[in-house]
Amino acid sequence: MIFMKNVKELQVEGKVVLCRCDFNVPIKGGVIRDDNRIVAALPTIKELISKGAKLVLMSHLGKIKHKEAPEVVAEQKAKNNMEPVAARLAELLEGVKVSFCPATRGEELKAAVASLNNGEVLVVQNTRYEKGESKNDPELSKEWASLADAFVMDAFGSAHRAHASTYGIPSILKEEGKQVALGYLVEKEVVSLSKVVNVEERPFVAILGGFKVSDKIKVINALVEKCDKIIIGGAMAYTFMKALGGEIGESPCEVDQLDYAKRMYESGKILLPVDTVCANDFDNPTEVREVPSNAIPAGFEGLDIGPKTREIYVAEIAKAKTVFWNGPMGVFEKEAYQAGTIAVCKACADLKGQAFTVIGGGDSAAACKQFGFKDEFSHVSTGGGASLEMIENNGHLPGIDVIGE
Ligand code: ADP
Ligand code: MG
Repeated sequence: MIFMKNVKELQVEGKVVLCRCDFNVPIKGGVIRDDNRIVAALPTIKELISKGAKLVLMSHLGKIKHKEAPEVVAEQKAKNNMEPVAARLAELLEGVKVSFCPATRGEELKAAVASLNNGEVLVVQNTRYEKGESKNDPELSKEWASLADAFVMDAFGSAHRAHASTYGIPSILKEEGKQVALGYLVEKEVVSLSKVVNVEERPFVAILGGFKVSDKIKVINALVEKCDKIIIGGAMAYTFMKALGGEIGESPCEVDQLDYAKRMYESGKILLPVDTVCANDFDNPTEVREVPSNAIPAGFEGLDIGPKTREIYVAEIAKAKTVFWNGPMGVFEKEAYQAGTIAVCKACADLKGQAFTVIGGGDSAAACKQFGFKDEFSHVSTGGGASLEMIENNGHLPGIDVIGE
């Protein structure tokens, strides 16, 4: 790992510090459904406040499609307004002055930054209100960078994107000889995921599930190189079963990935389910059966790994010294198809203190939280896509490399 400055090392009293956070929280009708990401940002924010910085916080929130008609864009902007985040942050930072700037650039933003006193916080409106954000527009990056004396990257979930707020700003500030650093949250991600990228303790077992093979091709490639065993579950298992000549009934299958699946299987490292829980209808099943994975009857689709597979997978996980898990073993949102995912969660939890266990993936993280195992893992990544890309790119992400280059 290249040496990178940490937020603790910054000297920023009286300086404007621009901190890129991940405040991409679920919001409905202006109400925050889960403030985890805001809470997770607090250590870095508090550190900068205690150092006497004038703190400017930026983040994206949701999606805004600038190519749509103006009224659609306006609707998306209203839906993804950052103001409730500023309000929640003010509650969490009792005693600290937190203000909100509805402008994303121009005189209004400049004036809001200029009015900050040491130890005060300004939350800027959603960076994606700007069309140039996702394009890493040089003019926008320049304008944002001109506001700041220093930059802190604490948005791991956005570190795989070279956008104006994640890449443009720090590259300019660095060129100008200004301080740039990683926040606590990103630093913990980098340290933890590095142990998966550069495996120290073997056997290294990867657990892959979820919906699509095509989403995960690159990570399967990388993991076949790095792992000792890859356990496959979820809907992607049926593409593998089909590739090996099995009958998969109505189970989801990506026909264009069959050759790829076969090739990966030939690595000799892949374990596939031997039995499957299948049903005759996704929404309203009248029959749920446990069958061999290569003999799913017509009219049925596989929705979870079966009991024999659970046993085999649990035994394999028990031997591991490093575990990386992405993708649930079944449709864990429905009670009838949770057992596989719960078994894997529990097997990882049982390794506590003996192995390094990491979850990367939004739904997998949600599942482990739902089933009460969140604190039993060594690390639950806050960035699904970012954690996968970090493994695919052998530890590199643009928004992190730019801090250390
Ligand atoms: P992550 O967010 O952890 O990367 P994914 O997004 O790849 O995981 O996959 C999660 C989704 O996969 C879940 O919504 C789950 O219901 C679905 N899934 C898992 N197994 C199956 C299956 N057999 N059939 C249909 N969907 C499945
Ligand atoms: Mg997902």
